[in-house]
Amino acid sequence: MILLDGKKVRDQRVPELRREIRELGFAPVLGIVQIGRLERSEAYVIQKIRFGELIGARIEQVRLSADVSTEDVLFEIRRLNADPAVNGVIIQLPLPQGIDRRVVIEAIDPTKDVDGLTARNLKSLLENDHQGFLPATTKGVLSLLRHYEVPIEGREVVVVGRSLLVGKSTALAFLNENATVTICHRFTRDLPEVTKRGDILVVATGSPLLITPEHVHKGQVVVDVGINVSNKESLAEEISAPKLIGDVDFVRVKDQVLAISPVPGGVGPMTVLSLFENLIEAARRHGASAR
Ligand code: NAD
Repeated sequence: MILLDGKKVRDQRVPELRREIRELGFAPVLGIVQIGRLERSEAYVIQKIRFGELIGARIEQVRLSADVSTEDVLFEIRRLNADPAVNGVIIQLPLPQGIDRRVVIEAIDPTKDVDGLTARNLKSLLENDHQGFLPATTKGVLSLLRHYEVPIEGREVVVVGRSLLVGKSTALAFLNENATVTICHRFTRDLPEVTKRGDILVVATGSPLLITPEHVHKGQVVVDVGINVSNKESLAEEISAPKLIGDVDFVRVKDQVLAISPVPGGVGPMTVLSLFENLIEAARRHGASAR
């Protein structure tokens, strides 16, 4: 079994990103808007800040309380949009209830949308015009496979999960890479029969340990996007404290496939890497247009 080690790949890329930032001639700035104090979001934001600082980027963290209005959030996003020193703007998801995700994401200047989630960037993905920013998670999945030289063109790719921000975007990106793509979701009949068709299986459902040995085959490359906090009583014997688990039952599946990404340490770190690759690209474009 080959471990698709996203953490290792991310760390290996650090010198290259540092060099790219030196070549820019200025430290790119990422604005992170964080609403509320969800424990998981705190952890994600800290990871982003640490990695950003490691490569020489700067972070402007905007913390808002959980009870802010959508208008308050829009005010902060517009302020970051208007600041010429800021090259990228992201909103840490998930958002508290009462804040309209689509409205606040759409307020981000598409040239600063380094998470690749605004309609303009998603349309670029749809049109495959290479003009926009790929959603960071999708880009992370593709980069992980490229690093391990997994062929994509002409291959059967099965994506489980069809959210706009993860499953659907990732499926489109594989289609753009000339894969033959199948998308599964809650209404898919006989999921194991369909998932087994894939040379590559990408899982993004938020259903912990959904994928078991019956869903995979020996020649398959499995990418687990899911991040779930496990403290379920049914798992209490194996897992005493809350910890992160994927949508794939890694322990049981790992020896039944050709390659697999772990959780944590697989797609998560690759998403952070992709976010900063997008930030550097945004800064390059902003720098070029300012000259
Ligand atoms: P979502 O809830 O918006 O979408 C889940 C999708 O999975 C839906 O389309 C649903 O139909 C499908 N699904 C759910 N249960 C299923 C089942 N039993 N069988 C078949 N399909 C099923 O979630 P999301 O925002 O797409 O996130 C998915 C997972 O990816 C979550 O665990 C999330 O934490 C994780 N995530 C990870 C990263 C990363 O960087 N690694 C980034 C974003 C999201």
